[in-house]
Amino acid sequence: MMAGNWKMYKTPAETHAFFEAFKPLVASASHCDIVICAPFPDLHAAIKEAEGSNVAVGAQNLYWGKEGAVTGEVSGHMLQSIGCRYVIVAHSERRQYFGESEPDVVRKTQAALEYNLNPIVCVGERLEERESGRTEEVLGEMFDGGIAPLTPEQFAKIVIAYEPVWAIGTGKTATPHIAADAHRFIRKKVASKFGDAAAETTRILYGGSVKPDNVKGLMFEEEIDGALVGGASLDPKSFAGIVNF
Ligand code: PEP
Repeated sequence: MMAGNWKMYKTPAETHAFFEAFKPLVASASHCDIVICAPFPDLHAAIKEAEGSNVAVGAQNLYWGKEGAVTGEVSGHMLQSIGCRYVIVAHSERRQYFGESEPDVVRKTQAALEYNLNPIVCVGERLEERESGRTEEVLGEMFDGGIAPLTPEQFAKIVIAYEPVWAIGTGKTATPHIAADAHRFIRKKVASKFGDAAAETTRILYGGSVKPDNVKGLMFEEEIDGALVGGASLDPKSFAGIVNF
């Protein structure tokens, strides 16, 4: 899977322009699922543009209730009703700026699944955690608190994204070796909780400064099943270069 995370960029008009340029560039790509996760106001335009193409559309966040007095929030039910198919959960920017906790991650993931959205659940350590040798401890805590409480049926429908925080938007990509090590650790956690078959089939994406010129090395690693791409997904040629690595 190659998923783009547009973060807080692009208007609906810019969304139309992106899809017009992007669709022909990836029309013959059948080796991966292609997903664009757009801001809420762009979803309608993105879904219309993606119709009949090999590109699916996702949101970047959701609230766990169906509806109610929760000012400013958007539910899985609402996302499903407009044809959204994916949703990012627990992006590090949500954890950092909005205080999303592991119980929130579980609630959001379960709410997404309830409304037939495919959650892309993010985990990743901060720089000081890596530098103090705590990467596995942090990834383990995120897995135990945010993913392990899912049922095996729920787990089977999620995609995990390993996104080391120090590599997001910094231009510092994890080396393929560092990324593969983290993926291997996450897969071991999956095996111990959900079994070997689940560990074998689950998709773990790498995210953090993926660009057209470094994607090949990352995808060469058997452990890495795709990418979650921020900055480089905003430009149609650059994201197509990643998809068609
Ligand atoms: C992201 O936002 O998930 C991300 C990985 O960003 P970037 O590719 O810009 O580092």
